[in-house]
Amino acid sequence: MKIAVVGAGIFGISAAVKLAQNSHRVDLFEKEDGILKAASGINQFRLHRGFHYPRSSETTGDSIRTEKSFRLEYGQAVIDDGEQYYGIAKEGSLISADTYLDFCQKFKLGHEHIKPAFLNHSQIDLCLRAKEGRIDHAKLKKICLSRIKKLRVNLRLETKATPGLLKNYDLAVLCAYANLNSLLLHVPDQQKKYQFELCEKPVVKLPRQFTGKSLVMMDGPFMCLDPLGGTDKFLLGNVVHAIHQSNIGLHPEVDDKFLPILNKGIIKNPPITNFKKFIESGVQFIPELAKAEHIGSMFTIRTVLPHKEETDERPTIVSRINDKTITVFSGKFSNCVEAAEKVLEMVKEV
Ligand SMILES: Cc1cc2nc3c(=O)[nH]c(=O)nc-3n(C[C@H](O)[C@H](O)[C@H](O)COP(=O)(O)OP(=O)(O)OC[C@H]3O[C@@H](n4cnc5c(N)ncnc54)[C@H](O)[C@@H]3O)c2cc1C
Repeated sequence: MKIAVVGAGIFGISAAVKLAQNSHRVDLFEKEDGILKAASGINQFRLHRGFHYPRSSETTGDSIRTEKSFRLEYGQAVIDDGEQYYGIAKEGSLISADTYLDFCQKFKLGHEHIKPAFLNHSQIDLCLRAKEGRIDHAKLKKICLSRIKKLRVNLRLETKATPGLLKNYDLAVLCAYANLNSLLLHVPDQQKKYQFELCEKPVVKLPRQFTGKSLVMMDGPFMCLDPLGGTDKFLLGNVVHAIHQSNIGLHPEVDDKFLPILNKGIIKNPPITNFKKFIESGVQFIPELAKAEHIGSMFTIRTVLPHKEETDERPTIVSRINDKTITVFSGKFSNCVEAAEKVLEMVKEV
């Protein structure tokens, strides 16, 4: 079959490669000038094992189940050294330390109790050391480009796919994440509402003592910190201050001022930043964060199902819209290989 895959994020690339491995002719469309430039290039790069989602058994189960297939396909891009910590905040957490421990036991999430010196334990009820991988974006990009080349996937960069263009194909697989609905304009009853969040990811340098350390403060409006791939830099996260704009609807609403910096990698001296707020809210848990040097920030859109605040669930949904269209809405990175397998099964049924 002649198949168009839209979106060269990790979900589109995984689907394109899987289809090409099964003898389909695949054109992979990407509107940016490179692969993995949107959410797949600007995120916290955690290969989740479940620790992050104590309020959603489904997302925890998905993470545990799909980690293996992700590692089989992209294992060379996973970094397993370092120290990963999960803390429960003393005040304002949506779950208690006891509930979190019960959750870890239920899902057999191995951990040890620990009190690392870099944390302010007067603000923390519980700290666990966990084992989780992180994704090296530069290595992932290399692996993806080599597969695309080897399997002769026709990568069409700087080419925006439209419903009109897709008519020329036997089938279209839409992996456009934040832009999914713009490719379904001709089938409006198939469009779905999402919650769009325009996120900032500050990149910082930290004192040497932080080398290899990750922390997520749970479970609510807190912060996280992760090494950035194999570099000496770190990524900051913050549930509140990362979000500059948010809307629920069919399409993301993005102020003009963000357009030049959206999905453009690390922006030095960004014209808009919440960096100071990230630090102010982070120092209560990590006092030394006050010494962070701001290298720059990255900006992208996160797309999640609306009204899921209670569980914070992040499902991946593969749907057959009609005989000519399959959509992939992505949750977490690790689901991309399983989603590609589902796409292949659906293509076989068409
Ligand atoms: C701030 C943030 C932190 C996150 N942290 C984590 C984490 O730590 N671990 C984890 O597992 N997940 C995390 N996620 C989620 C994860 O990053 C995403 O689920 C995943 O990267 C989405 O991949 P994708 O291929 O579906 O989308 P994308 O990577 O966004 O790819 C979609 C591509 O489609 C292209 N496109 C759109 N429309 C068109 C068109 N008409 N024509 C051509 N191209 C088009 C876009 O340019 C884009 O490149 C995070 C997400 C965000 C935003």
